[in-house]
Amino acid sequence: MRKIAIIHTGGTIAMAEDQAGSVAPVSDHPLSEHLNELQSKALIEEIFLFDLPSPHMTPVKMLELGQKISQLIETECFDGVIVTHGTDTLEETAYFLDLFLHVGAPIVITGAMRSSNEVGSDGLYNLMSAIRVVCDNEAQNKGIMVVMNDEIHSAAYCTKTSTSNIATFQSPQFGPIGILTKQDVYFYHKWIKHDQIEFDTITKTVPLIKAYAGMDQAFIESICRLPLDGLVIEAFGQGNLPPDIVYPLVKLIKASIPVVIVSRSFMGVVQPTYGYDGGGQQLKERGLFFAKRLSGPKARIKLMALLEAKYNWEQIKDTLET
Ligand code: ASP
Repeated sequence: MRKIAIIHTGGTIAMAEDQAGSVAPVSDHPLSEHLNELQSKALIEEIFLFDLPSPHMTPVKMLELGQKISQLIETECFDGVIVTHGTDTLEETAYFLDLFLHVGAPIVITGAMRSSNEVGSDGLYNLMSAIRVVCDNEAQNKGIMVVMNDEIHSAAYCTKTSTSNIATFQSPQFGPIGILTKQDVYFYHKWIKHDQIEFDTITKTVPLIKAYAGMDQAFIESICRLPLDGLVIEAFGQGNLPPDIVYPLVKLIKASIPVVIVSRSFMGVVQPTYGYDGGGQQLKERGLFFAKRLSGPKARIKLMALLEAKYNWEQIKDTLET
């Protein structure tokens, strides 16, 4: 039998609804009472690392989680790890772990959209699915997998798409890498290896902002006055910005602070196409980086990791733009 660790970090999967309909953490983890029945599938050890609603998650805590997983796999010889997590920031933690961990053992992150005592609660079901995936013979070397609602997604591409639907996690551009049926686990996309970055601290200040029609210079200047290490902007379409905000961004670049463009469209890839004022070609000429295939929150995590790992200007550009 495989030896698996379940690391709890909080989220709806660790919560219950009270009579007034308010969902909040409970003193005993609701999944722990099922541990005996789950032990028939694998040798399972539960670890209670955090008890956080995931809006309280931070990159520093993600690093602590990543270091714990490394220790379990490399020193304590666990065959796989499951992380339970709130769904709100799950995709950021999953991607952080994808960059940080350099292990082939299966690592799955899961959560729930309905708390433990709600009708149709999906926490136990998703945990059981996560155990099945981690125990599957083909689950090695797949990066961090997000398992929810009978689907397996790659951390790099999945996102929470619905506020409340249990089918919330989707990979809009590429689809899931696998599915679960009642009897089987099927992987049907080959996992392409992503970047792995060496870092063991996480200290950089990298805000994420979203472009909107009529965005004005005073607003962006107030952001640029903050002590920044980098800035990520969800730009329009293929990577275009309102012309008024370009000048303050160029000042940041001149001060050696990387400014990274992603798209606020949730499909497609940014590329410098347009030559008008604020258009992608002009942004590229002025030194903004175009982060390929990443959402805003994930590009922010990646830029923080690259800065922490002391990549130089060209290395940051190449890693983001390849
Ligand atoms: N707000 C909750 C959280 O992210 C939602 C969830 O767990 O699904 O912790």
